[in-house]
Amino acid sequence: MKTKDGLWRLSPSSLYAYTECKSCFWVNNHYRRMPTLPLLLNTAMDSILKARYDKYRADGKFPPEAKELEDEGIQPFQDLNQLNDWRENIRSLEVVNEDAGYRLVGKIDDVLVEADGRLVPADYKSSGNAPAEDKQKYYIDQLTAYGLMFRHHGHKVSDRAYLLHYFVKDKNDPSVEVKFDSHVDLVDIDLDGLQKKLVDMVELLNGDYPGHNPECKNCSYYDERNGYVG
Ligand SMILES: [Zn+2]
Repeated sequence: MKTKDGLWRLSPSSLYAYTECKSCFWVNNHYRRMPTLPLLLNTAMDSILKARYDKYRADGKFPPEAKELEDEGIQPFQDLNQLNDWRENIRSLEVVNEDAGYRLVGKIDDVLVEADGRLVPADYKSSGNAPAEDKQKYYIDQLTAYGLMFRHHGHKVSDRAYLLHYFVKDKNDPSVEVKFDSHVDLVDIDLDGLQKKLVDMVELLNGDYPGHNPECKNCSYYDERNGYVG
């Protein structure tokens, strides 16, 4: 949505829609959506994973399933107070770009650190299924946006980020003690590329509705509900 100051309020997790379908991206940002129920199971998993990574963080380590990060020369971010501020306070990493016309706002799950001190954005993803081969395409802009936010606030940022996937090991196991598998997924991030893309996004949002996209399933959903597609 456009905020009172005339800037588009963009969140890192909503950016992928621009690549997926420009019509949906336009609609998502112009119309206040119905309030959705919070995904409580996902929220609970995020809390568990934060606690898990923080437990190992105290010793400067990663949980065993993410040990390969240490082999990559990456360390956990050590300042837990600062990290918790980034996790909880939506304003702490905000980017306001009045020239381009947007306000980028969001919270981050975790941060890793390169040997030379550059920050590496990280996001926990929990799901019922193992991540699909191409799944990271949905999250590149999200992770890059975190990188932009860090850079804006004076931090040096790596050209890579990580998705930390956790998914149900065996969906046919009738136990309530659900076992998870995990996968560490490297994502290359291009901060300058996203900065340019954000300008294009705002240009799209400032223009008229780009029209119904026949390739997109979600577009027809909006047709029915809002009826503004002529
Ligand atoms: Zn669409």
